[in-house]
This record gives sequence, C-alpha cells and structure tokens, in this order.
Amino acid sequence: MTFPIEASCQCGQVSYVLKSAPLKVFACHCSECQKLSTSPFSVTAMVDANDIEFSGELGEWRRKADSGNINGAKFCTGCGNRIYHFSPSDMSIIKLKLKPIAADTAYLFEPQVHVWVSEKQSWYEIRKGSRRLINNRKVLFKSLSRQGGENSHLFRFALPYL
Ligand SMILES: [Zn+2]
Ligand SMILES: [Zn+2]
Repeated sequence: MTFPIEASCQCGQVSYVLKSAPLKVFACHCSECQKLSTSPFSVTAMVDANDIEFSGELGEWRRKADSGNINGAKFCTGCGNRIYHFSPSDMSIIKLKLKPIAADTAYLFEPQVHVWVSEKQSWYEIRKGSRRLINNRKVLFKSLSRQGGENSHLFRFALPYL
C-alpha cells in the first residue's frame, strides 16, 4: 500500500490525507455506536495525530460517560458525517470514524478487536476467530495488565465509553 491515502465525506466538504496505517482498528458494539452508525456496530481506526491532516469545516459535539470521561466528536457541518472522535485529555490519538472506501485500502480498516460485545445485536454474528472483549471496567483493567497499561490502544479507545 502506498501512502498517503485520501478520503472525503458524503458531501465532499471535509476531506483528509492519511500518511500511514492505523495503529489499531476496533469494532464497537455499544449502544451509542449503534445509534451513531445506524448499524449494529461502528468501526474506529486509531491513528497517530501526526499522521493525518483534515481540511474543511468541522462541527463538534461532546458526550460525557457515567464516569465523567469525555468523548469528543467532530462532524461535517454540511452532510453531518461523523469524521473522528477524540479524548480532550489525549489529543495525540485520532479515533477515525470516516474511512476511505477504495477497495485496495479496505484491508487496513478491518477490525482486529470487537469490543462491548455484551451490547451486540443478537442477529449479528462476529466471524469465528475474531478477538472479542466484553468491555466493562473490570474486564478492561484486567486486560490492561497484559497489554501495556494505560498507554495501550485498548485503554485509549475504551476510556471515554466507561
Ligand atoms: Zn460532508
Ligand atoms: Zn461504541
């Protein structure tokens, strides 16, 4: 695959240039992601903030989890496509929602881990062999000890949802 990869929203007002592969790709089955994606799960690519450049006008919305953790969201002010999420406390990571659609780059955005499987729609089957995590505080902190603690991609992905 040759970088950079370009992508744009449905109306074309917002676009970005991605300069290298995502660090990790998650499929999240939580009820918030079901609302957001209008489908059984949403796919998020964790990207180093230095590896991506956005252009166009972005609107912002913030959601607070029960714990008080904030999940920030950027969207296109023209068509409303969700572009990326971020944690205000850690701007080094972009949680990319809008993915490129070209067939030759699709493999880069295949989920490596399924999270919040406890809220999964019963009619959707996760492919056998995929890594899955039932994501609650207890499970997250248990798996953290094996995966590089609070700097792990899992932790940085999941924290705003807890
Ligand atoms: Zn748009
Ligand atoms: Zn989710």
